[in-house]
This record gives sequence, structure tokens and C-alpha cells, in this order.
Amino acid sequence: MGKIIILDEHTANKIAAGEVVERPASVVKELCENSIDAGATSISVEIKNGGISFIKIVDNGSGLNKDDVEIAFEKYSTSKIRSAEDLTSISSMGFRGEALASISAVSRLEMTTKTKDEKEGSRILVQGGKVNARQDYGCPIGTTIIVKELFFNTPARYKFLKKDYTEAGYIEDVLTMLALGNPEISFKLVSNGSMVLQTPGNNDLLSCAYSIFGNTAKATIKVECEQDDITVFGLVGKPETSRSNRSQEMFFINSRIIKNKTITSAVEEAYKTLLQVGKYPFVILNISINPQMIDINVHPTKQEVRFSDENKIFSAVYHAVKNTLLGAQSLIPGSAEESEHSKSISYYDAENHKPMFTEQAKKSDAGSLFRVGLKNEDFGNNYFKKDKSYGQTDYFKKNESAIQQNNTSEAYENINILEKETNLEIQEAEPEYLPYKIVGTAFSTYIIVQMYEELYIIDQHAAHERVMFEKLKKDKKDGRQLSQMLLIPEVLELKHKEFELISQNIELLASIGIIVEGFGVNSIKINAVPYVFSKTDVKELLFELIDGLEEIGREKNVTSEEKLLYRIACKSAVKANTSLSNQEILALIEDMNDLENPFTCPHGRPTAIKMTKREIEKKFGRT
Ligand code: ADP
Ligand code: MG
Repeated sequence: MGKIIILDEHTANKIAAGEVVERPASVVKELCENSIDAGATSISVEIKNGGISFIKIVDNGSGLNKDDVEIAFEKYSTSKIRSAEDLTSISSMGFRGEALASISAVSRLEMTTKTKDEKEGSRILVQGGKVNARQDYGCPIGTTIIVKELFFNTPARYKFLKKDYTEAGYIEDVLTMLALGNPEISFKLVSNGSMVLQTPGNNDLLSCAYSIFGNTAKATIKVECEQDDITVFGLVGKPETSRSNRSQEMFFINSRIIKNKTITSAVEEAYKTLLQVGKYPFVILNISINPQMIDINVHPTKQEVRFSDENKIFSAVYHAVKNTLLGAQSLIPGSAEESEHSKSISYYDAENHKPMFTEQAKKSDAGSLFRVGLKNEDFGNNYFKKDKSYGQTDYFKKNESAIQQNNTSEAYENINILEKETNLEIQEAEPEYLPYKIVGTAFSTYIIVQMYEELYIIDQHAAHERVMFEKLKKDKKDGRQLSQMLLIPEVLELKHKEFELISQNIELLASIGIIVEGFGVNSIKINAVPYVFSKTDVKELLFELIDGLEEIGREKNVTSEEKLLYRIACKSAVKANTSLSNQEILALIEDMNDLENPFTCPHGRPTAIKMTKREIEKKFGRT
């Protein structure tokens, strides 16, 4: 006898459920999308235990007709398309007819529903894929679905669920995205009895975003652009709203939540030069496009899309974001130069997910060095006396804060003082000369140092990061106090999920010098931060740590502490594109010399690269 059989429908549904229903958040997503398709203007979601034990979704949409109630739970039952041809012009969220079948196959589901034409509604109970009860039922117009004990009959899947608050966080993410994609609908999320999110549903994206992100949403600029029949609408954040992961890059196509590399790189390219490397913007973009130009049927959860013309999409998104940012003059230093740059991008290389530049733009850089000439007076004799009195961790901050106030004379004074001090000491003691010489700084980022027969190029940010990290680590090990009380505590408004994350990690944060406490609904009060920080950085630091905590997840141990320390070091280190005085450079190099291994950063990236005189001579054909 052969070994192959055809699975019965019940088993097949249980397997298929895995594709659509991965976790409580996917249930919430599918059911809310059904409510959206049903024309609801208000959708409320209530969950318990991160949705694992209980999810209830109430909408005021069209409801299901009595005749449709049972068939809706069959696989491939849908009211949204009639044939394969319809797949090319989908305007609804759902169309595969899988969600209700899949969800009810792995839970105990109850639905009550009524259309406006019916006197009485219906109620149906489906448990593990079997219809257990079906009756007429009095209820308002719309649909209510309760999903209990998700995965009760698929223990393997149940085992993969994370902690309640993590699952609740995923649900919050889903609701956030659905709400932003549909600002005309009022969404509400209640978790274990407390309100997590509520949007006004007044069709105003900004007020919707504000109700979710608080003040972050205020630091945005509205985008509204059309190009090649593609409309790009949304909000783009000012540089200060950037974060160190892509969690704030939110994209929709025709109101559908999507992930797509073309769009991601178009946005990031538009932000280039505005954000530091490793920083990602806050953006909410809804792209309206003729459904014929996209294929959303690539993946069961419909999150990925394919475009018939990647270039068109790239160009429309890139220009929409770029022009909006350029319009906001104050954001961009040297914006004239920038717009030239933006013109030179002309293709999108879909295979490598990279923008391509025109040949012209590439050629124009060549030879410019020789036109500038080499008449920099600072090039010679920059030998410095060894003096560690200014080698404090705040040697950059003094200067930075002066620059921040935009008071050049003060910045100048600051440098002068340092030089004066140095001069004083020259009179007192025999000057001790260093074996190296600072040649200069390239691109306000790379320090060039000559020592004996070698040339070093130091990445000032990476190097300082390393110094700060080692210092924090050492102080921590020696039991020294890392935290410094803030004169005026800072209150920070957070997303509920972020608030939870901080609350779960109060002790871990305290161990690295950050003292926070809850301060009302979804707000925290920051009382102390590591001494390496000035007050202006506090918010940014906290968001950085939230990103770090998210990454660490549940395995809290010594290395997770180190990972956070590393982020602190990174935040407190001098940035690229900052001009440093020679004294500051010197202090940095001296600090580096004290480290055991100064030539890699904690992640193993180099802080400096080296070239020997011989190598250079070889290149010039001198040997
Ligand atoms: P799909 O959404 O892909 O069509 P589903 O399994 O999610 O498939 O839903 C099956 C059908 O049930 C839908 O096509 C729709 O007609 C109906 N339906 C589901 N949820 C709702 C709801 N909240 N309000 C009205 N009709 C609904
Ligand atoms: Mg559906």
C-alpha cells in the first residue's frame, strides 16, 4: 500500500492556520482588516494575557448576513473577489478567505453579527474548526468576535508564544499600524483592563499619530506629493526623531501595511546626510497607486508587495520625501548642494536594492583634490606637548555645548583657554614632545596622524565611543557611581509598549546609572543619567536604551548590561561631522593610548586604519 494520503480538511486547516495565524497579533490584524473591509468607522480591541487567553473585537461595520455566517468559516470563502482575474485589482484588505477558517481552527471562537437589513442577528460558536452552536441572536449592527484560548489544540505553536507583555506589544504594533493606515477609523486597544491606545478617527493623520506617539508626532512635516500617478501622503520626522532601528519607518500601500525594500531605501536615501550613520527616520507614508501596478498576493500575510515598475516607485517616494525635507530649509545645512545631488540619482537598481547615480555625477569628483592645492598652513609642525590635564571625559562636551549655543566667540574662548593653560606649563617644565603629529582632520570625521613611518586615519566617533565604553565599564567594575542626578528631572511620554519595557527593566537601568520611575499613564520621570551626559541628551538617550532593551529581549545577563553600556558610550561620544580642535584630538589620542586594545571598537569595527610610508611610496612608484 502506498504511503501518501490526502489530509482531511480539519487537519489541513490546522496546518494552514500556521501561515496566517502565527501569534495573537496576527489574529488581531486579520480580524481588524475584516472590520475595515466591512466599512467600520469604529473598531475596538480588548485583550487579556497578551491576547493568548482572550481577544475581543467589536466593529460597527456591515455585519454578516444570516446566510453567510456559517460559510464565512469555510476555507477560501470570501465575499471580496469572485475569480482569479479580480486578483489584479484588489482594493480590499482581505481576499484569500483564509482568516476566519484558520483562526477558528486553532481557538474557541464566538461571533455575533447583524446587518442593517435584518431584524435579528446571529451567533455562532466555532471551536477547533467545528461549528458547535448556531442561533438567532439580538445584537447591534456590526460584528463582534471573541477568540479564546488561542492554540489550545496546537501545543507546538503555543510553545512558541512569548511572554504576555511581549505579545501585547506586538498587538499594540499592529493596532498602531492599522490606525495610522486608516486615520478615518477610530481604533481602541484595551489590555488587561487598561487603555493602551485610542485614536480620534477624524481622518487627520497628524492627530492620529499624536494620539499614539505624543510629542514625537509634532516634530514632523507633512508630505503630499504626486508623480507618475503615484500619490505619496504622510508625515516625515525631523532628524531629532530618528532612532537606531527601523521601527519607526511605517509604510502603507493603498492603506495596507507593507514592508518593501524599494520604499525603505528610497526614504533612507532621501534622508542621507541628515541622519548619522545607523540612524533611521520617523516616517509614516501612505502610497496610493493603481492596484494593477502591484502584486500583494506574494505572501499569506500580505505584507510584502511586488511592483511592476520599481523605478517609478523609488523615484516617487524619494522625491516626495526629499522635496519635503528640502522645503523645510532649517533642517539642512548646505541645501543647495543637496538638491544637485538629488538630481543625480536617476535609477533604482532593484536587484541590489540600491539607488544608482548617473555617470556624470560620478566623474565630477575626480581630480578635485589637485585643484584645491595643498596650501594649508596647518599642515606643518603640529607637534604637541604631552599634557593630560585636559584629558577628561568631558573634553568634547565643553566645546560642543558652546557650539550648540551658536556662540562662536565662546567656542573660540574655550579653545584659547586650553591653549593658554598649555603655554603656561611650557614655561614651568621642559616640554615633552610626542612621537606623533596630527596632520589634520578629513571630512570633519577622520583624524589623520603621522607617527614614525606610519600614517593613521582615526574615526573620531568610533575612537571616542571606545574610550567612553571602557571608562564606563571600568567605573562600573570598580563600584563607582555612574549616575548623576538631574537638576530638573525630565518627564518623557512613551508609547505604552515602551513604557512597559522600561517598567520591566528599572533595575537593569539603575545598574548602569539611569534612575527612572513611573509618572502617570505611559510617562516616566528620569531622575538620573550616567555622568557622561548633559541634560539635552536625556530624551535621546532613553530612546536609544529602549531600542537596546528591545533588542536584548528577555535574556538579561552581564552581556545585556554591556550592550546597554555600549549604547550609552555611543550616544555620549563625539559625533562624526564635528570639528575638533587639535587639543581635543590630542586628548582623544592620549586616552586611546591608555587602552589595552584601542584599535577596535566593542563591536570589532576598527577605530583606526593604518598605512605605512612604504605602502604609499609603492603606490607612487618610488620603490
Ligand atoms: P477574507 O477577508 O479574505 O475574505 P476571511 O476569512 O477573513 O476572508 O473572511 C471571510 C468573509 O467573512 C469575508 O469575505 C467577509 O464577507 C466576512 N466577514 C468577516 N469578518 C467580517 C466582519 N467583521 N464584518 C463583516 N463581514 C465579515
Ligand atoms: Mg479577512
